[in-house]
Amino acid sequence: MRTVAVVGASLAGLSAARSLRKQGYDGRLVIIGDEPHRPYDRPPLSKEFLAGGIGEADLALESDDEDLRAEWLLGSRATGLDTDGTDRVVRLADGREVRADGIVIATGAVARTLPGTDGLAGVHTLRTLDDARALRDELALGGRLVVIGGGFIGAEVASTAYALGLDVTVVEAAPTPLAGPLGETMGGIVSALHADHGVRLLCGVGVKGLSGETRVDAVLLDDGRSIPADIVVVGVGARPCVEWLEGSGVDLDNGVKCGADGRTSLAGVVAVGDCASWYDPHAGIHRRVEHWTGARERPDAAVATLLAWGATEPGVPRPPYFWSDQYGVKIQFAGHSAGADSVTVEEGAAGDRSFLAVYRRAGQPVAVLAMNQPRLFMRWRKQLSAATS
Ligand SMILES: Cc1cc2nc3c(=O)[nH]c(=O)nc-3n(C[C@H](O)[C@H](O)[C@H](O)COP(=O)(O)OP(=O)(O)OC[C@H]3O[C@@H](n4cnc5c(N)ncnc54)[C@H](O)[C@@H]3O)c2cc1C
Repeated sequence: MRTVAVVGASLAGLSAARSLRKQGYDGRLVIIGDEPHRPYDRPPLSKEFLAGGIGEADLALESDDEDLRAEWLLGSRATGLDTDGTDRVVRLADGREVRADGIVIATGAVARTLPGTDGLAGVHTLRTLDDARALRDELALGGRLVVIGGGFIGAEVASTAYALGLDVTVVEAAPTPLAGPLGETMGGIVSALHADHGVRLLCGVGVKGLSGETRVDAVLLDDGRSIPADIVVVGVGARPCVEWLEGSGVDLDNGVKCGADGRTSLAGVVAVGDCASWYDPHAGIHRRVEHWTGARERPDAAVATLLAWGATEPGVPRPPYFWSDQYGVKIQFAGHSAGADSVTVEEGAAGDRSFLAVYRRAGQPVAVLAMNQPRLFMRWRKQLSAATS
């Protein structure tokens, strides 16, 4: 392989570039990213960075002395992927082309927005450093914050804004926050976490729209209520950035459809991170996981696939893992709760926010959840990996 182009210059793209060099690839390496920034870490954007506890330099994912011998094309959006003989050609928005025989797709995800809210001042999403800068500046002014969506980003923004002294309301359509990943029983514990800190949580109600002429002044709910707001954060999930691959021959279905080793439907093309929907051999389905650890770890396997196309055996992926920090509580979760028929607290007490719970299906562990129990969690996470491998 003579040239590899990595499209997406964030955690998964950087991890893939590192894996390429680690696995002995010595050829030309081009890293294409549409943001103007060098790779930075996103988890702190809703936590320490938003709170003002750390600065931009602290977000850097590269070390000062790191040299991947790569050509960085930053501020360059990929708009298409074509095939020319054995080469793949990445087309860029500025008209340039990058010709390569290996491609890593790592274009991540973008925050979903509410229709009709573009250009309304005071309304934010949180995905990028630029988003976080803008939101941090507004939160510093104080006032009433309404967070739409009680998922991870919404809950973390609520927790950070509460610590900054804002008046915070969270609106969540599901019966509890995090009902999707954690299930409603454990989601109820997260509800109590918000309530204990004086954050209003309105669950089981949808958002009809926002009001305000040039600046938002309220969030209008489906049940007719109007919640006054100076700042609104829309935390309603993210969608994979894969439009640029339409018509390329890469199969798309909720992201880039991949095998259990990261290969796509196009030879010489692999996909990693939040944009990639990898085949899960246990469940027999494709899953797109939007977690830091997957974006960090899976590029190793995808790069091995790329460098030895057709000669590798897919390994068994570890169960997905994520963490979240809310109101001083560390939440850690591994596995898949969907399909579990029981969840039991095995150690500690849920009321103390210091416990470990195991989700089981037909008696077999399928997921583990911990609050403020990192050591116990690591032990159970290993057991879960062993049980599912
Ligand atoms: C605020 C926030 C907090 C988070 N907190 C946690 C946490 O506590 N725990 C956890 O497990 N996970 C957390 N995550 C998720 C984690 O950060 C992501 O899983 C991880 O960033 C995914 O990395 P990625 O490289 O796949 O995608 P991304 O980080 O989204 O990077 C993709 C890059 O590709 C670029 N790109 C997109 N389209 C193109 C194109 N056409 N051409 C060129 N470049 C393109 C994007 O601009 C972006 O720079 C958080 C995410 C956010 C936003």
